[in-house]
Amino acid sequence: MGEVVRLGYAPSGCSGVLTIDLGALQRNYRALADRLRPAATAAVVKADAYGLGVDQVGPALQTAGCRDFFVAQLSEAVSLRRLLTHEVRIYVLNGLQPGEEAAAADLAVVPVLNSLEQLSLWSALAKQRDARLPALLQVDTGMSRLGLSRQEVDALAADRSLGEGVDLRFLMSHLACGDEHAHGQNAEQLAVLHQVAALFPDLPLCFANSGGIFLGHGFHGSLARPGIALYGGTPSDAPDAGMQPVVRLDVRVVQTRSVPAGTRVGYGATYVASAEMRLATLAAGYADGLPRSLSNAGAAYYEGVRLPIVGRVSMDSLTIDISALPASTLRLGSMVEIIGPHQSLEMIAADAGTISYEILTSLGRRFHRHYVV
Ligand SMILES: *Cc1c(COP(=O)(O)O)cnc(C)c1O
Repeated sequence: MGEVVRLGYAPSGCSGVLTIDLGALQRNYRALADRLRPAATAAVVKADAYGLGVDQVGPALQTAGCRDFFVAQLSEAVSLRRLLTHEVRIYVLNGLQPGEEAAAADLAVVPVLNSLEQLSLWSALAKQRDARLPALLQVDTGMSRLGLSRQEVDALAADRSLGEGVDLRFLMSHLACGDEHAHGQNAEQLAVLHQVAALFPDLPLCFANSGGIFLGHGFHGSLARPGIALYGGTPSDAPDAGMQPVVRLDVRVVQTRSVPAGTRVGYGATYVASAEMRLATLAAGYADGLPRSLSNAGAAYYEGVRLPIVGRVSMDSLTIDISALPASTLRLGSMVEIIGPHQSLEMIAADAGTISYEILTSLGRRFHRHYVV
């Protein structure tokens, strides 16, 4: 693989190279863990580690010292269990679907219980097995997505036997606006969490996602759950949130041409050349995770020069204006930067009208994936 990259072409006929820097990932983990101590730092590795490959990301994070891993679904926990040693704890954010309890318990998976119904199903299995089964209890503090309602919280506080046999490890909640450090809802949610925590004084708190970590110590609780910050996304609009980039994406040129003024470009003929210009067609499109919303909006870079996308993004290709480069700089087989030192994940996400999370989790399976440390 090293030789292939030195030669500058992707093996197996791939026309793009996605470089994933596991060393940067580990440095990001350690930087967050240092910031959060004495709180512990988990890693959120749902959705194939935000599209970057949980098979590589999971063990790299364990090597960096992580012992707590969050996924969204039981199926992801099953895969992760095989990858990591038994000392790690694996939590399932969505909790369990009815009937999944026994499989989860057999794998020592820790569900996040989001309702009294999920609590009662987990409790029933614990009683049936005459065992204590670990879980996190999530309460809704203002996002209205997952977690016990206030009424459910009060019912449980009044009758803890509803959770008989369940070993509650943390009281958990999730911020809706954690990436906006001045948003008033952050303090409101923290206040609601503290009210609920007063009813469960034995439970430590698990609250902050990446953004929450940068809201300050009061939001850290005892176990933080960063995702995007590990993967080099900008977790917050707070000024001190710089994480190291983890992803780089370079894509091949498949064709170049010069066109006269008036030439139409791409599906729907949405771009018309206003002067003579030079174009390059790149070998990646919306099937590779470059959203169609980049049509006539985004750009690629070559040695720092911005090369705007012209016309619509196709399934397998897109076209850029390379008039800013000296003629024949780019030709069949040249590589241009889509994500890298000149175009951050945040920049391309902004051009696409979306967020870094969606870009990362959409990155296609046709790119050659090159893991470096
Ligand atoms: C995805 C997720 C996280 C991680 O969020 P980031 O913003 O990527 O750090 C944390 N907690 C919950 C409940 C999540 O769904």
